Amino acid sequence: MKRYVLDASAVLCGKDALTADEIYVPLSVIEELGKGKYRRKVEVLIGIKVSVVSPAEESKGRIRQGAEETGDLLRLSEADIDVLALALEIGGVILTDDYSIQNVAKHLGIEYEAVAERGIKEEFHWEYVCTGCRRRYPDAIKECPVCGAVVRTKRKKKGNGKRREEDSTQ
Ligand SMILES: [Zn+2]
Repeated sequence: MKRYVLDASAVLCGKDALTADEIYVPLSVIEELGKGKYRRKVEVLIGIKVSVVSPAEESKGRIRQGAEETGDLLRLSEADIDVLALALEIGGVILTDDYSIQNVAKHLGIEYEAVAERGIKEEFHWEYVCTGCRRRYPDAIKECPVCGAVVRTKRKKKGNGKRREEDSTQ
């Protein structure tokens, strides 16, 4: 039985693959998700068997230091840092698709798994859509190379040939 620490994307991907494990989520991640339209999903998840905890300042400091060494510090949110710090404290495995979290985890010897590799059924994909010409890009870019407008991250949900999009806050 593993202890998993979930980041926001892992929380949103559902709980199906995790029922046999101990699940930890930092309070900051819950607060971040709980404010918006994911509130119900978060409440359902908490109703199952999730421990909501806040890591100590000392471990957050160690994470910030490690993130500075890898150059990821500016790409990590406070909630991301909490995910890393919590995993460090409890010897947990981080479940995340965030490359910066994975990178810092690797650097500090913290175990992690990608959400996609867990074979979770309800899977989200990201795509990047130009706010000007609406062109879609598979990779994260800030500015559209065609028209120069800002490119925004969107969550793309695949299934049944239908596609539903939601604005992301990222
Ligand atoms: Zn464009």
